[in-house]
Amino acid sequence: MVQIEIDEDACVGCGSCVEDCPNDVYEMDEAKNKTKVVNLEDCMACLSCHEICPAQAMEHQDIHVAKRLYIDRKVNYALDRII
Ligand code: SF4
Ligand code: SF4
Repeated sequence: MVQIEIDEDACVGCGSCVEDCPNDVYEMDEAKNKTKVVNLEDCMACLSCHEICPAQAMEHQDIHVAKRLYIDRKVNYALDRII
């Protein structure tokens, strides 16, 4: 299962990951002004949060299975439209 690690020293509390995650994996910790992972099981490893984070504050691990499924789905979709 995918793992997400937030570097709290790096996180600037912009909230972009909270707003952009399609599966509500993150929530802001208002007291700390940092993001926190609240629904890890819903992460589909799309890596949108990783792309948008201005501080490179998050790291994803063990994503190969979910990522592979995502790529396969895109490839199959493209092939269906070509063939
Ligand atoms: S990888 Fe995608 S689904 Fe997972 S936390 Fe980031 S934006 Fe959300
Ligand atoms: S996008 Fe990055 S800097 Fe902004 S709240 Fe999320 S982890 Fe922190």
